Amino acid sequence: MPRRPTPEPKPIFWVPLQGTPQREKPVFHEVFRDWTGWLTLDIEVFSDYLYVGSGQIDLVRINGREQARYTFTRRDGKLIIPATSIKGAVRSVFEVITNSCVSQRGRRERIYSSAHFACGLVRKGKEEKAQLCPACRVFGTTGYRGRVYFSDAEPIGEVSTTTIKISDLWPPRRTQGRKFYETKKFQPQDLTPRRNTRFIEVVPKGSVFRTRLRFENMSESELGALLRAMGIIPKENDPDSVVLGFPVKLGGAKPRCLGSVYFRPRAVRIVASPQQSWIEGLIQPRGKGALVAHLAAWLQDTSLLDLEAWEIFREAAQPRTDASCPREVY
Ligand SMILES: [Zn+2]
Repeated sequence: MPRRPTPEPKPIFWVPLQGTPQREKPVFHEVFRDWTGWLTLDIEVFSDYLYVGSGQIDLVRINGREQARYTFTRRDGKLIIPATSIKGAVRSVFEVITNSCVSQRGRRERIYSSAHFACGLVRKGKEEKAQLCPACRVFGTTGYRGRVYFSDAEPIGEVSTTTIKISDLWPPRRTQGRKFYETKKFQPQDLTPRRNTRFIEVVPKGSVFRTRLRFENMSESELGALLRAMGIIPKENDPDSVVLGFPVKLGGAKPRCLGSVYFRPRAVRIVASPQQSWIEGLIQPRGKGALVAHLAAWLQDTSLLDLEAWEIFREAAQPRTDASCPREVY
């Protein structure tokens, strides 16, 4: 009997769910404490393509025939990466490296850890029973709006799209913890329409978008974990410097190795800090030009990190562009 060919390996890695999330009362918005400000970040496409779908379909001419294509998101005719996509991508990394609850999962996926149920703000009589995990305290959950906000990312310079064909995608049936996608090489397909394939509108490697991240009342440990969740890490043996440690996965078609991006910090603006009140900050803004010093200081506080999960994640998120993603349906 001829043996079936070995299926191409899936570009997935898992981080096991362990322990119990450290749930606490969140910081409410009527008080001002710790760090408040903005961080400007460039999002640079590192994988062969990035696809952030809008749910819309247009018609394009391919080999002389009109074909339906899933389009990249636009606002007022301009390509954008919506804030919600950026926040979702950063949050999923933040969740794993801080051992937070599992807030999002595929419809067919189940979590098998009873400790990692999604947090929620429960009101018991007049008293708020607010016990939230680190990710829900920073990004928000039902009843609590969180303390970080991304803006929609807009293109920097000329960013143009192209059309590629991918095979349809099937999520894994079994879950083994938290699922992430590796950064490997995309395998192009010819543009001949076929069953179980689709056309998508993508932007190529090297495209750059810019977003602004506003943060409110954030502690050093929360900011340090937030930077790590964007792949921004301390330089080895030089804690006063920061480097881009790994790409983060953003948008759709991740099982086809699309969507690896680097977050490159460009500027910081501190409005309030432990050393400076809001009023002082508005009159006399400090923190401009002190980008690396601020990032390096926040990264030194690792008290919110699950160090074991962090090491697993950081290692598995390294690009492996000598290997390819599967081309066929899987
Ligand atoms: Zn939570």
